[in-house]
Amino acid sequence: MSSASYPDAGTASASYPDARTASASYDGVRTASRALATEAVHAGRDDLARQGLHAPPIDLSTTYPSYDSRGEAARIDAFATTGAEPDGPPVYARLGNPTVARFEAALARLEGTESAVAFASGMAALSAVLLVRASMGLRHVVAVRPLYGCSDHLLTAGLLGSEVTWVDPAGIADALRPDTGLVLVESPANPTLAELDLRAVAHACGSVPLLADNTFATPVLQRPAEQGARLVLHSATKYLGGHGDVMAGVVACDEEFAGRLRQVRFATGGVLHPLAGYLLLRGLSTLPVRVRAASANAAELARRLVADPRVTRVHYPRIGGAMVAFEVAGDPHEVIGGVRLVTPAVSLGSVDTLIQHPASISHRIVDADDRRGAGVSDRLLRLSVGLEDVEDLWADLDRALGQRAALPIPAAAREPVSSV
Ligand SMILES: *Cc1c(COP(=O)(O)O)cnc(C)c1O
Repeated sequence: MSSASYPDAGTASASYPDARTASASYDGVRTASRALATEAVHAGRDDLARQGLHAPPIDLSTTYPSYDSRGEAARIDAFATTGAEPDGPPVYARLGNPTVARFEAALARLEGTESAVAFASGMAALSAVLLVRASMGLRHVVAVRPLYGCSDHLLTAGLLGSEVTWVDPAGIADALRPDTGLVLVESPANPTLAELDLRAVAHACGSVPLLADNTFATPVLQRPAEQGARLVLHSATKYLGGHGDVMAGVVACDEEFAGRLRQVRFATGGVLHPLAGYLLLRGLSTLPVRVRAASANAAELARRLVADPRVTRVHYPRIGGAMVAFEVAGDPHEVIGGVRLVTPAVSLGSVDTLIQHPASISHRIVDADDRRGAGVSDRLLRLSVGLEDVEDLWADLDRALGQRAALPIPAAAREPVSSV
């Protein structure tokens, strides 16, 4: 084989810069006019054809040979100053990895940000953001409930030394203090699918960075950076991976904040494995198709649930999406025990449909009064709708919901709830 067939192996130093500076090469008019569906399958792969490749290579190296230790010293100094990814070949896998960098470049394109920084999980990503701000003496966080249960817990327990003030969206501006480092919101929120006006929230934040957790909407339905969020967080474990087999987190943001996140990632070690980076890049290519198809299923199921007397309330976001939450008149544990096609499991965003009881699992760690106060009823079930045939899904849910309730539910209680 000629070395041209294996450009990564044969010309490592020439090929790595291509992959590592992929986000820079996307700047400007060349790709600015591409649609999201096109970006989803091409972003992060621009250098492949030049390398004679079609599928992205997976680089599993933990370290990289260098005969120029003076040069490495200079590149490490540069990283310590700005957090910019070192030019040239990588140094050590905790500092950066070319396969992960492809996913980061692609996600930044989809979210419309300069950069993105990937982590071992969504919680590692959120932790890194909090650590960046705490290291600047900005330990106070303003947040709107509900949030994903463990995000709520991380803030409430003050595990990273932060202090949280919980507010309604209208109370954000008044809650800001000189030491406020972050405003944190989810929209649609986990698990109630409550929606916020992100533009208004970003305005209320003034100069304090707004972090919008975009896990539920994905960039297919909503791009928070365009509405003023400085930081866009994903549990990439969910829709970005999309197949229930990758755990990951990512923050899309400007390059300045990304540099600080890379420095924290380097120092605390919550890196994403290259195999996960590969699977995430692969997942992104079908993200728009998956989200649209699953959303169509979810909208239809929400419509049927609204009309069902065994269901007292249905939450389905105005922007759509593949998540449906609903409150049952009967025992929610019976529904969980009754599904057969749908998988009773926490997590979401996979090709198959999952159902879980937030008060028992995803939001169990939140104090019961705080949980109920945030609208997470003990009768609420959260459904992550997948790509199965909608009639098969409905047949399973219909059976799991059990006997039709004898008591009629007032029609007013069966309206879908939107929270804007
Ligand atoms: C799952 C989830 C998280 C946490 O992500 P992990 O990948 O499980 O660490 C954060 N935010 C939201 C909205 C989530 O659903």
